Amino acid sequence: MSARVRLDVPAPGRRTLSAMRARLLTALLAALAFLLALPALTAQADTPELPDRIAAAWRTDHLSVDPRLAAGIPQTELDRIRAAMRAAPVPVYVALVPRTPYLEKKTYDMPTLLHARIGTPGLYVLAVVDGNYWSAAAELYRQGGLRGRDLVSVQNDDKQRLDLLSDRPAPRIVRTIQQASTAFDGRALPPVPAGDLEEENGDHELSTTDKEDRSAYVGMGVGGVLGFGLTLLIGLRRRHRVTKRSKARPPAKDDPPIEAWDVQLKADDKITAAERAVARLGKRRNRTTEQLDQRDDAYRRLDAARTLRADHPDDLLAAAGALVLARQAERGASGAAVQPPCFFDPTHNPGTATVDWSDDVEVPACQQCASVVRRGKTPRGLRVWSRSGLLGHDRKQVPYWTLDPEDNPMVASGFGAVSDDLPERVAAWKDEVR
Ligand SMILES: [Zn+2]
Repeated sequence: MSARVRLDVPAPGRRTLSAMRARLLTALLAALAFLLALPALTAQADTPELPDRIAAAWRTDHLSVDPRLAAGIPQTELDRIRAAMRAAPVPVYVALVPRTPYLEKKTYDMPTLLHARIGTPGLYVLAVVDGNYWSAAAELYRQGGLRGRDLVSVQNDDKQRLDLLSDRPAPRIVRTIQQASTAFDGRALPPVPAGDLEEENGDHELSTTDKEDRSAYVGMGVGGVLGFGLTLLIGLRRRHRVTKRSKARPPAKDDPPIEAWDVQLKADDKITAAERAVARLGKRRNRTTEQLDQRDDAYRRLDAARTLRADHPDDLLAAAGALVLARQAERGASGAAVQPPCFFDPTHNPGTATVDWSDDVEVPACQQCASVVRRGKTPRGLRVWSRSGLLGHDRKQVPYWTLDPEDNPMVASGFGAVSDDLPERVAAWKDEVR
């Protein structure tokens, strides 16, 4: 399957090329290689069988590289990943795949789907490359009864993850394996080698102390949640205005906000999946206290998701909130760590990255939005129609976080990204509306 393309530039030509022309040539060759590889790519466009293909490959090798990428990944990268896999205290399964439309929606579910096929405890990592940007989704499954830290909490504490290079696969995958090892047996997280870190570029980088201050602030107790939510929204609004003043390019007119019905369908699918997961957990005998807690938490989230869909069937924000809650309920009931949504758009992959947003606030974000923020830009975000003007006839699209938090628990909590209390807020909202 792996079609290797080798193109040699004649030696005399190579010597006379200026650096810029060499880069141009590299780009052209890459484009050519891509075109040559295209038939193979369309012949095996990703379908729901992708998890089956990866699981089959893992039967012979726990490091699986998609045939479409095989020619482009240096052996040194694979060697480093293998070394990290061997050093881990749990079995590690790693798959490297290109981003495809199928994965657009499924990346986040893939570790769960893959674990379902393999069935053994361990770390499941799916590394996805989009252009030359590598991201990874990972899930740690423990032997029944074993406790330890959540992988997500180790990741959130690991500030170095923010500076990992993403133009090749090893930095992020190796770090994920190290984080899972720490989550598993509490071993110290080693420092990231300098070669895996982005170079400091003074202007928007914070000092380590600043970052620690901010995370201490974000980590403030539950009692501070409400005040914190308000600070966040004030911060967000301020930033939004600044962006406007600097004449940020408005969204293209022909780019409508995400269709509400699409989110509604997804939310209802997830609610069904969460119901199944909760029912499975309910049937299991000899449940541990931890599993009982997980079940209760999953019920709470599932219940709030159902409430949102029942009480506001046509509302985009309610559907997105239901999607987030049902997703969390399904994961919790399956024994996986509950993850915060991407603050900017809760329909994105979960917020496995953390980014500085306004002066006082860090928010969870998906890898894509995180890379946008790190480039100093504002992600497009989940957009909603806002009515303004006489009789509300002037409709325009605005990011949801510019709406009034007083009116909506999803806005007030960033869909639970800012404060993980969306179920309670939904319950309070329901009482208020009646
Ligand atoms: Zn996002």
